[in-house]
Amino acid sequence: MNKYKIEIAHENGPSVLAYSDSLQKYVRVLAVNPGIIKKQGLDSNRVEKILQLHIDRMELVDGMRELDPTKDLQALLDLELKHRENQYALQAAWGFSRDRSMHDWFEVPHCSCPKMDNRERKGTPYQIRSLDCIYHGSQIGD
Ligand SMILES: [Zn+2]
Repeated sequence: MNKYKIEIAHENGPSVLAYSDSLQKYVRVLAVNPGIIKKQGLDSNRVEKILQLHIDRMELVDGMRELDPTKDLQALLDLELKHRENQYALQAAWGFSRDRSMHDWFEVPHCSCPKMDNRERKGTPYQIRSLDCIYHGSQIGD
């Protein structure tokens, strides 16, 4: 059984469902806004691609959460790069411009950069990084 599945025809918009072990059923974890789909002129194949990219992202995050930064640093750095590529792929699938400032780069597991401050600065050129962050402490760039 897959942890995640896609439901295109959902009353709240095309959705990603995740299986909840405690509830013993699939629950909706993400829905894409039908208004934006229409505005961007996306067909159902494109919407499915977007949902699949979100599932890829969730699986990446799940995998990162299970790793230990003191033992699996290189694996985490590789997955963080994949997460970044996934965010660009999502922007492309939506038809948005390639823009690192719109990414949730600070939400990946084991990132020690401040969350609230960076959420507030999303879409701006300003970022606040922790010098001790394993991903973002020493690296500048996109
Ligand atoms: Zn960080």
